Amino acid sequence: MPSYLRLHALSVLAEDFGVALEAACRFFAPIGVEVELLSRGHLSGYPSALPIVITDPGRLTPQQADLYAHRDQWPLDEVVAFFVGSMPPMLCRGFSHPGLHLCVVAAGAPVLTLAHELGHLLGLEHAADPGNLMYHRGPQGAEAHLDGFQVRRIFDSPLLGPASAQSG
Ligand SMILES: [Zn+2]
Repeated sequence: MPSYLRLHALSVLAEDFGVALEAACRFFAPIGVEVELLSRGHLSGYPSALPIVITDPGRLTPQQADLYAHRDQWPLDEVVAFFVGSMPPMLCRGFSHPGLHLCVVAAGAPVLTLAHELGHLLGLEHAADPGNLMYHRGPQGAEAHLDGFQVRRIFDSPLLGPASAQSG
């Protein structure tokens, strides 16, 4: 029986972000975690180059606070991925707020960036191995791995559960 990570995806971009979602699903499935995409949508009224400059959840920009307010429509055991146009290069084109159960991924990010951020939401820290999904500079290619300790850590996450009623 797989465990499910329930995910909503919201984008301020016109372009599709299905590749990142598929890559995350493909990455986690072999270890027994199904990324269940409950909804995906487009947010209008935001500049695609949303100014995301602060990753401290206690010091959000007004634009971030406004964007993140969209996550309140879902329970906290469902995570939300926001897709935005740009962020400072030091942020590896993605970051997560584990306390808020959300992550942000920039356009043009490496394909496994969403999977890396979901790893943070599931309780994983950074790793020194460049082949690891949780490499501190972000995943480097289309392939990455997790070690046994990391996999056990993921299964301790309260975010994993049975499939939602929505998916049957
Ligand atoms: Zn990271």
